[in-house]
Amino acid sequence: MSRPVRVRIAPSPTGDPHVGTAYIALFNYVFAKKMGGKFVLRIEDTDQTRARSDSEQMIFDALRWCGLSWDEGPDVGGPYAPYRQSERSQHYRDAAGTLLEKGEGYRCFCTEDRLAKLRLQQQAEKTTLGYDRHCRTIAPAEAASRAAAGESHVVRLKVPVSGPIEFTDKLRGTITRDAKEIDDQVLLKSDGMPTYHLANVVDDHLMEITHVIRAEEWISSTQKHVLLYRAFGWEAPEFIHMPLLRNTDKSKISKRKHPVSINYYRDIGILPHAFLNFLGLMGWSFGGDREKFTLAEMIDVFSWDRMSLGGPVFDLDKLTWLNEQYIHDLSYEQLADALISWRLNREYLVKLLPLVRERIKKLDEVIPATEYFFSGDLDLTPVLPEMTVPEVAPAAVGKALLDYVERFEARDGFDKTMLEEVARQWTEALGWKTKHAFMLLRLATTGRKASPPLFDTMAVLGKEITRRRLRSAAAVLAKAK
Ligand code: GLU
Repeated sequence: MSRPVRVRIAPSPTGDPHVGTAYIALFNYVFAKKMGGKFVLRIEDTDQTRARSDSEQMIFDALRWCGLSWDEGPDVGGPYAPYRQSERSQHYRDAAGTLLEKGEGYRCFCTEDRLAKLRLQQQAEKTTLGYDRHCRTIAPAEAASRAAAGESHVVRLKVPVSGPIEFTDKLRGTITRDAKEIDDQVLLKSDGMPTYHLANVVDDHLMEITHVIRAEEWISSTQKHVLLYRAFGWEAPEFIHMPLLRNTDKSKISKRKHPVSINYYRDIGILPHAFLNFLGLMGWSFGGDREKFTLAEMIDVFSWDRMSLGGPVFDLDKLTWLNEQYIHDLSYEQLADALISWRLNREYLVKLLPLVRERIKKLDEVIPATEYFFSGDLDLTPVLPEMTVPEVAPAAVGKALLDYVERFEARDGFDKTMLEEVARQWTEALGWKTKHAFMLLRLATTGRKASPPLFDTMAVLGKEITRRRLRSAAAVLAKAK
C-alpha cells in the first residue's frame, strides 16, 4: 500500500522571503491538496552564521499573504514536531552515530590548516579538488578513543569510491552520476551541528516525506542524499526538481535584475491571487491557452505531466498584466477592500502621520504631501541633475547607492536607527560630506529635495520600496553622463 502523501518546503531563514520559496511552496501545496496529503513547513536553520532572526517570521507572513497555509510547521505544531532544525540536534547526532556504527561514516580529524594546504596542492597540481580521504582508514576504535579524548573532528560519509548513483526524477527521468566525482561529505561539523545534507535527509525520513519537490539547483545534492538513504538503509522519497525561475534574459532569477522578495510584490500592490496564479504559470500549464485560474481550479486539474522544463521567465510585465485582469474583475467593494489591506489603512496612516502632521495646515494637503508614500517607482528625471556628489562620476555615485543597499541588507530589521547608523558608516567609508550623501539618499528615495526626516521616511516606505528606489536611481545614474 502506498504511503499517504506528505510533502514539505524547507526554507532556510537567511534573508527576505524569496519568490522561489513561494513558487516551490505553491506546487507542494497544490500537489498535497490534489492527493489529499499533508503539506509541511520545516525551517532549516542549522547554519547559524547565515540565519537571521526576523527571517523566519517573514517567511510565514509572506506565504500566508500569498494565500498558502501548511498543515504542520513550527508555528502550527504537528505530530512530527519540532519543525525547526535547530531544535532537532539530537536526531542528527543519533543518525551520525548510526552511520559510524554501520561503518558507513567515519570520523575525520583533519585540521582546517591541513585541508587548506591540500587544496593549494591540488590547485597547483591541477588535480581534482576534494578531500583525499586521509582519515578514512583510521581504525574505528582508535578514532573513537581520539574523539573521547576531546580531539576535534567532523563525521564524514564513506562515499563509494566509484559506481553509478542513480535516481529517478519525476519530471526528468533517470539522473546518473558516478560516485567518483563525489567527495566524502561532511555530515556532522566539529561543533556537533549537522550539515544541510544530513539534516535534510534525516528529517525527510523522520517526517515521513513521500515526495521531495524542490528547485533544480538541488539536483547535485540529491545525488548525495541518495547515497545517504542507501547508507541508512532507508527508502528514499520520490524526487521532483522544479525548473529555476529566470530573468527575461534567461539567467537565473537574481535580485540584480528583479526584486526577488515576495514582500516587494505585496508592497507595490500585486494582488495575492494574481501572484499565485502567475507562479502557477511558471513551467506549468492549465490546459488550452488559459492563463487566469484560481488556486482551487489549479488543484482540480493538477498533474505533473502539464509541467515543462524550459526555464520559466519571471516576467514583471506579464505579472502586471495578470494583476490588471484581476483588478478589473473585482467589484468596487472588493477593490476598496484590496486597497485597504494594501496601504490605505489606519495602520499605515498612523506610521506616516508623525512625518507629515507638522507640514500640513488643512487635511486636503495630506495627499499631495505624501504621494510618494503611496507609489512604487518614481520618475527621477526632474531631480537627476541634483543627484551629484562633487568630483564623483555619476556611475560611481550609483554604485555607492548599491553599496548602501548591500549594507542595510546585511542587517536585521529595517528601522531608522539602523538605517542612519549604516548611512553614517557608509558616508565615512566613501569619504563624502554627510550633506551630499544624505541628499543623494533623499532624492533617490523620495524624488524630492525636501522631505520629512530621511531615515524615518525610509522606515515608513519599508525595505522593499526603499531598496527598489535606490536600485532604480543607481541604474539611472549608471547611464547618466
Ligand atoms: N534548506 C534548503 C533551502 O534553503 C532546502 C532545500 C530542500 O528543499 O531540500 O531551500
